[in-house]
Amino acid sequence: MPKKRQAFKHNIVAIIYDFDGTLTEKPMQEYTVLPKIGIPAKKFWDTVNEETKKTKGEQIVTYMRLMLKYADNKDIAIKPADFRKLAKNIKYYPGVEKFFERINKFVDSLSNGKVELRHYIISAGLKEILNGIPFKNKFHNIFASEYHYDKYYHADFPKIIVNDTLKTQFIFRINKGREKMHESINTHMSHLDRAIPFRNMLYIGDGESDVPCMTVIKKEGGYAIAVCKKGSSKGINKAKDLLKAERVDFITRADYSKNSELEKIVKIILRNIVEGITFRKEIFKQYLTYIA
Ligand SMILES: [Mg+2]
Repeated sequence: MPKKRQAFKHNIVAIIYDFDGTLTEKPMQEYTVLPKIGIPAKKFWDTVNEETKKTKGEQIVTYMRLMLKYADNKDIAIKPADFRKLAKNIKYYPGVEKFFERINKFVDSLSNGKVELRHYIISAGLKEILNGIPFKNKFHNIFASEYHYDKYYHADFPKIIVNDTLKTQFIFRINKGREKMHESINTHMSHLDRAIPFRNMLYIGDGESDVPCMTVIKKEGGYAIAVCKKGSSKGINKAKDLLKAERVDFITRADYSKNSELEKIVKIILRNIVEGITFRKEIFKQYLTYIA
């Protein structure tokens, strides 16, 4: 016999952000580690691409390995605290810093405090750098690639790899409420028992590496937005391709300022999600009254 469910649980909404190209114009390494070890960004990424081809390796593992190699060649030890400090050099798209709190207030007033909004980052970049971003406390959780450290706190091996397809693992972790890496996400869990249904999720990303996440979320009834840099024809064309392929619901400039087009779109989607939650809550009441 199924267990009686006495409380409606699905009143949590998640906005999930990619980081590089979504909240910032450039990859985080270009503001932080690469200037520190004194290598031009283009040279570094070209070497990563060549090395990936040559070794038939995975791109994220390759960049993490080469970053350590370059730092070591210059006798620079990069420890977690250094990564955190370097994060202060990151430049964000307009309005990013204040966006999260404003949207929280919007959902709070829209739902009379009945719906909780959570923000997440899923990034192929480095968790150690993201630990130093000034608005880190606005996020419920941040998933990103991470190094293992030896007893001297020197990075010596990749500990967690996040690439485009692995990113979807974290969507399921959020969905099932199993956000710790040691928690299995493969055991069956009924949709009613899951922490945050896909239809309560909004994914914001900027490119092809976001396609697996966008696809999973949209297929399951959630929403996706592609953002691009203002005035970038390459960016807008990428976004248009995503819209044409129905990977996203909306495309717009990466401008998180008050009353920006992006904010308006996010609010349209959140209104829809909150309305859906109210609707399903009523259905749940019927279930409790007549069936449970
Ligand atoms: Mg990106």
